[in-house]
Amino acid sequence: MNISKFLFSTDVLHNVLKPGRYIGGEYNEIIKDKTKLKIAICFPDIYDIGMSHTGFQILYNLFNYYDSVSAERVFLPWIDMIEKMEKYKIPLYSLETYTPVKNFDLLGITLQYELSYPNILKILSMSDIPIYSKDRKEEDPIVLGGGPCSSNPEPVAPFFDAFFIGDGEEIVKNIVEVFNKFKSREQRLIELSKLKGIYVPKLNKPILKNGLLVHDKNKIINSIKLSDLNNFKFPINQIVSNIKIVHLRAIVEIMRGCNRGCRFCHAGMFYRPTRERSVENMEKIIYEILENTGFHEISLLSLSTLDYSMLNELIDRILPYLNEKHVSLSLPSSRVDKFSVELSSKLSSGRKAGLTFAPEAGSQKMRDIINKGIDEKEIFDVVKTAKENGWNRIKLYFMIGLPNETEEDVEEIVKLAKNLKKHSKLKEITVNISVFIPKPHTPFQYSKFEDLKSLKNKIKILYQLKKYKIRVNIQDPYQSYVEAIFALGDQNVSKILYDIVFEENSIFQQWDENFNFNSWARIFNKNEFDASKYLNGFNDILPWDFINTGVSKEFLKNEWEKSKNIEKTEDCRWSSCSMCGVCNKNLKVIVNKEQ
Ligand code: SF4
Repeated sequence: MNISKFLFSTDVLHNVLKPGRYIGGEYNEIIKDKTKLKIAICFPDIYDIGMSHTGFQILYNLFNYYDSVSAERVFLPWIDMIEKMEKYKIPLYSLETYTPVKNFDLLGITLQYELSYPNILKILSMSDIPIYSKDRKEEDPIVLGGGPCSSNPEPVAPFFDAFFIGDGEEIVKNIVEVFNKFKSREQRLIELSKLKGIYVPKLNKPILKNGLLVHDKNKIINSIKLSDLNNFKFPINQIVSNIKIVHLRAIVEIMRGCNRGCRFCHAGMFYRPTRERSVENMEKIIYEILENTGFHEISLLSLSTLDYSMLNELIDRILPYLNEKHVSLSLPSSRVDKFSVELSSKLSSGRKAGLTFAPEAGSQKMRDIINKGIDEKEIFDVVKTAKENGWNRIKLYFMIGLPNETEEDVEEIVKLAKNLKKHSKLKEITVNISVFIPKPHTPFQYSKFEDLKSLKNKIKILYQLKKYKIRVNIQDPYQSYVEAIFALGDQNVSKILYDIVFEENSIFQQWDENFNFNSWARIFNKNEFDASKYLNGFNDILPWDFINTGVSKEFLKNEWEKSKNIEKTEDCRWSSCSMCGVCNKNLKVIVNKEQ
């Protein structure tokens, strides 16, 4: 089937929402002829979300940097388009050349959040690629996973041929070399498995131990990390979408990693250590990217942008240019401090939509347990400063279900929000609540996921906020329960994933309107699935022990013990090294200016 001819000669695109999602042709897309190697880069969600993701644009450009490679984009279509494609038997295709995914040599899928896992199986099925790696034939693409969730790849391991763990910049060159040099599927997988940072499940099988599928201690996969962001050219030709997407703006990664040491935070541990890009490099990239895209907004992205040690200097250097070109600057931040408010005021040029802060917990005890490093006075000060600077709306982010949290701690969230409203006289306070999920490779990987009954009791307490005219949005605990299973599972949970997609037709599970816990309950019952072995807390053996992110298990255990004793650990950027283990002679914290 000639896919583009079919799409443009029928009414398929006329009858779906946002047809621009499915036709490519954007400014800066890369189309190459006659390359040796065809790579499909897939974000397992809709176009609007995938195209807003910086890492996705980085990977696209990293692969396309090589003359021998053409990398093309693939997304999961929204439900209306899936129905049309299934009706007319249109296989999933790339946006650049409308090539069926099955015809690529490599299908790279980024694993950003666990609830996207059902989407991955749907993508394989729409591409006519066998769902299980073991069933694939010579002509099928090699399916490679990467991204933060690859730090525990086990729940999806049977569906992938390989994973890369770590920073893509360091590994893409080696992957391309293997594919160019070796032609057979078998040989490529063997050679990939020899590379640092690559895990090939069929060559590294788990064994059953204490009821869990775990790996041999001698088969460790060491993640690969980029020592200096300045060593790689950041993509300055970012694709400019033709339709409205979640973030339609230029994005520059200002630094990678965060050493604040929040004990619940997966990204904080996985992307250690902090590596700042130099001010000179940032300035150059910002000007080039704006020249090459025409965007009127630029965002400086990282896990905690306000921690960039020379942020004021950088802003002073670029602001005249941005003002001249009428480009607005956004600094995504939820840091609770006055600097954050003052900077937002400086950049807001009169528009004051709202500020976001993440105290994460209501009581000081809980903030110390999670190592958040802020106290109540700072929270009150920051809200007061916001009001003084003309802000009238704030959003506060908290979690419930944290280790050692009691109902009294949750009542403290209500008390804190109520008092902030009373004292600040802000027009609007919104409280957003998420449910804590223990994540692999964090100090809280040993924690249990709180049982649903107890979470529901805590949620009842939080609804008291409405009495004080405070808006409250609470994440569905059932959704978090499912997410926790796929964050903490071993290869045995993959069967659940298969059944939820092919028996219940459940995809897009991170979208509230598509999530139905009854479907999951049916699949759990059918499989006599015992979630408690993943959710009740682990002792020493973990399904992801064979992945070494560089942060040592001793450090994580020690942090877990410190949390029980309500002891804090300082950020090593501003105090001494806390021996997390990630630094070595080639990798260290890079901060442009010592504090
Ligand atoms: S090894 Fe020390 S200096 Fe390096 S990131 Fe860990 S705590 Fe910080």
